[in-house]
Amino acid sequence: MLVEAAARLRASLRDNDLCARLGGDEFVVLLTGPEAGHATAAQRIVDAENVAKRILRCMREPVHIGDRSITRTISIGMAASAHGTDFDTLLRDADVALYRAKDAGRDRLAWYDADAHLEMLERIGIEADLREALHASSLHVHYQPMYTLEDQRLVGAEALARWDHPQRGSVSPAVFIFLAEDAGLIGRLSDAVLTLACAQAAAWSNIPEFRTWVNISPVQFQNAGLADIVLGHLTAAGVAPNRFGIEITETALADHASANRELALLSDAGMAIAIDDFGTGHSSLTRLHTLPIDVLKIDQSFVRGLARPRGRAAVNAIVQLAHALGMETIAEGIETPAELDALHALGSDCGSGYLLGPPGPAASMPVPQ
Ligand code: C2E
Ligand code: MG
Ligand code: MG
Repeated sequence: MLVEAAARLRASLRDNDLCARLGGDEFVVLLTGPEAGHATAAQRIVDAENVAKRILRCMREPVHIGDRSITRTISIGMAASAHGTDFDTLLRDADVALYRAKDAGRDRLAWYDADAHLEMLERIGIEADLREALHASSLHVHYQPMYTLEDQRLVGAEALARWDHPQRGSVSPAVFIFLAEDAGLIGRLSDAVLTLACAQAAAWSNIPEFRTWVNISPVQFQNAGLADIVLGHLTAAGVAPNRFGIEITETALADHASANRELALLSDAGMAIAIDDFGTGHSSLTRLHTLPIDVLKIDQSFVRGLARPRGRAAVNAIVQLAHALGMETIAEGIETPAELDALHALGSDCGSGYLLGPPGPAASMPVPQ
């Protein structure tokens, strides 16, 4: 039986796949596949399931030993390796899945973590759609106005990426930016946003003291050349760097050498640099005062906290810190007149939020005609 089972297993696999008998009647198959490096995680999973189904089918065929015909079924536990999963963990996970397959009635396959598996398939589906959307240039950008708090002058707009999925509707940037970072698509996404935002900034260049801001992912600081990319977009669109700004998060600053160099290049060219969601990540004060930062964006979680004395004290501290370092503050996510008044009283220079104007298409920006 074992010899025949092994032969059938081997016949179901490719040359690169590893097949071993673990002991007793347990076999292990490790699928790597010649194309493992190129295939997407989705393809690998579908591929693995097909192999498992093929094995299940061929094992159902009767085995002829002497003049007897014996029919046996098997159960298969499946586990997929994520980055860094070692072989022991993979084997243990597959073993857990094997017991699930047996509990569920045998002659079937089970994944180690069915929910995670479904989630992964879904995520991979969205990832493929995002790739497609980037290819078809179907992402677009909304703009949210920023005002001075002292005299409510329009001083800028933040470009925010938008993706309308044909089936899912509008997907949150919190979801697709993360996916893009994870799937190595963030550079292309950023290029798409920069192209649109620079064209828009050119159209707005007649508005005095107005700046268009774009968000830059920390992942983009991992490679040199970010400054060249951004400045290249500005040149192509004919936008002066002093009409443009980038928003980075505190995480981006952690990546020392390359972040230092790229930020210096951008700042020297005249571009403004803001720390987004300030106070929610890990900022070192050393980094803050040695880097060419122009603006601290007060995160909306602080704005929500303004009703409490300690919350006000926190915002006060951020504003004082910024001003002491020669920076300005832009408070984000202002939703109520009370928040607006409190921020003004505490000396925040600028602000944005649903109260002042939600993100919308460029045409909806309240620019002077
Ligand atoms: P962020 O840069 O901090 O942008 C502010 C977020 O707050 C936006 O969410 C905006 O729509 C939302 N917002 C504005 N005013 C209010 C308000 O009054 N109340 C509340 N509750 N929310 C408000 P959105 O557009 O969903 O973007 C989420 C995040 O995704 C952004 O946070 C940014 O980190 C990232 N993101 C968006 N577009 C891009 C992009 O082109 N590139 C990169 N790398 N990241 C982007
Ligand atoms: Mg931002
Ligand atoms: Mg923010």
